Amino acid sequence: MTSTTTKGMVITAALVALGILTLSTLLIPPTVYIPQRIAAQWDSIWRDNLPKNCSAENILCAPKEFLGCVQIERTPTGWYVRRWEPAANMIRLPLAASGDCLAGDNAMWHIHPATVDPVAIYKCVHNSIMCNFVTDTSIHLRFYRDLSGDDLETLWNTPGAIASLMTWAPGYTVGAIVWRHKILYPAKVVIQ
Ligand SMILES: [Zn+2]
Repeated sequence: MTSTTTKGMVITAALVALGILTLSTLLIPPTVYIPQRIAAQWDSIWRDNLPKNCSAENILCAPKEFLGCVQIERTPTGWYVRRWEPAANMIRLPLAASGDCLAGDNAMWHIHPATVDPVAIYKCVHNSIMCNFVTDTSIHLRFYRDLSGDDLETLWNTPGAIASLMTWAPGYTVGAIVWRHKILYPAKVVIQ
């Protein structure tokens, strides 16, 4: 009798726990977890795309975006980035990147490279001096911290895509997710 009661209590407790977990996954948007090793690779690609060869003569030195294909595993405790690879047939432009992902990929990642602040370029032009913005310690970078409307539309319109992640500076990745038939932005993104 005692053991049956205990068993019943354990089963009830387990069902309550399952119910809370199910309820929380329905009500609380999932956090996207990025492993340190992948975040480090993304940071390094971002750094490789710092503006180069900027001068008074070459103010169109805008670096280009870079697109990656990502696989995310969805679990009741969160969404986990498991692997990624650069998109195939990538086309890189200053404000966009496109490419092909594999059938198993369900998310995308790209960078928003920093650009040289136009004020810094103006000063170089105005003073008629050559400026090397990369080695110049007075470099001023402009960052693009948010996903664009196009980024969110692309996520919505890409069949099977559940998340769009973007790195705008080393250590800083933001993301949008498709959750409960809606785009949620910004989603909680954690590097761990
Ligand atoms: Zn973007």
